Amino acid sequence: MPTAPSDPRRRIPRTDDLLTLPEVAAASASLSRPVVTGIIRGVQDRARAGAITPEDVQAEVVRLVTGRTPSALRPVLNATGVIIHTNLGRAPLSAAARAAIADAAGYTDVEMDLGTGKRSRRGTQARAALLQRMPDAEDAFVVNNGAAALVLATTALAFDRDVIISRGQFVEIGAGFRLSDLMESTGARLREVGTTNRTRLEDYADAIGQDTGAILVVHPSNFRLEGFTGVPPLNDVAALAHERGVPLIVDVGSGQFEPDAALPQEPSIGEALRAGADAVIASGDKLMGGPQAGVLAGTAAMVARLARHPLARAVRVDKLTLAALEATLLGPTPPVLAALHADPAELRRRTEALADAVHGAAPNAGVVEHEGRVGGGGGTGVPLPGWALRLPTRLADPLRSGEMPVVGRVADGACLIDLRCIPEDQDQVLAEQIIAAAAAAESTEEEGS
Ligand SMILES: *Cc1c(COP(=O)(O)O)cnc(C)c1O
Repeated sequence: MPTAPSDPRRRIPRTDDLLTLPEVAAASASLSRPVVTGIIRGVQDRARAGAITPEDVQAEVVRLVTGRTPSALRPVLNATGVIIHTNLGRAPLSAAARAAIADAAGYTDVEMDLGTGKRSRRGTQARAALLQRMPDAEDAFVVNNGAAALVLATTALAFDRDVIISRGQFVEIGAGFRLSDLMESTGARLREVGTTNRTRLEDYADAIGQDTGAILVVHPSNFRLEGFTGVPPLNDVAALAHERGVPLIVDVGSGQFEPDAALPQEPSIGEALRAGADAVIASGDKLMGGPQAGVLAGTAAMVARLARHPLARAVRVDKLTLAALEATLLGPTPPVLAALHADPAELRRRTEALADAVHGAAPNAGVVEHEGRVGGGGGTGVPLPGWALRLPTRLADPLRSGEMPVVGRVADGACLIDLRCIPEDQDQVLAEQIIAAAAAAESTEEEGS
């Protein structure tokens, strides 16, 4: 519809003119053309609808393109004290892993032996790093995540057959995902044995038959059974499985290589292999501290059988993951393990320094004892003694929406800032964010009053 000469819509700046603004041209270097023109059209539409004046269009476009990155995922400071926080991306990668991702991002020798120029097995480097950490494994294979490893194992071993599993090990891993549903979706039949609280070796023995594809032992990684409970020792289940010629798969979940004194109840990959598991399944981004990945480790025969199943191609891991996993394993202590073993006295010192740094803006912020958690499928219920800065609850929202988002723990009528999962070199940034959040909270209050 043509507009009358007096129509204010005629004053809306044209796309071509907006594109030549220096700020917009600069943003175009890091954003695709459709993104930039999309932002411009959106602002023009708002002006046409009368939501903003034509005179404000230019400033609004500049505001929206400035600082806009091609990925909307933002770095966040995790001040919750929960180390493996699924909503915040589980394990933060080590500097070594980040660098390895950058190096592998272009062309890389993921499937080539540079010595001979011939094709090589994919991810030999990550496999070697894994085997170094798992001397009891004959071979290892990496897939997309723990769930994919489980799907691959059940499909390859028990399609149209039985998977024997204890009733106490029907785990819901979160957000409505049940391992039992996942396994049944592969066409395996779940043969439940025992009761919720107790399963005996005879229960497994009685269930083994012609149709048994595998015995699966799952670590209940996010809940704890207490009281009159019991499952047979893994050694005994393995001996039974081998005597009857049935493979034993153990899903340990969290990916701890060997027992750690900080988490006495947590099963490890090494123990499961020594007990006689044919294959052990673990996640890469829980206590292993690496990228999202599923590690399958075990006997050479079992790993080969799983790796050559057609489904293995569909759960294949990408080069960035392989690079990050290898560097996590060969590089210095990854952040997850540093946070797990953080010294409480050191956390207290940093928290007190933080309280001092923000004193002007948050004079009542106190340092209180605060227990961290492993979170995300590991060390269920194990408290990790530490400290937190206690801020008013009203700071939680502005902290999350600040320049560097900070996610604290809102509990006990406060917003608790726990430094366990915050790299020490970010303490200064954190203090600045708290000061800015206090100012933002104050100005909203003034507007409201
Ligand atoms: C976390 C977990 C899984 C799923 O692993 P993802 O890597 O999240 O796919 C499977 N089993 C157990 C016991 C777990 O703890």
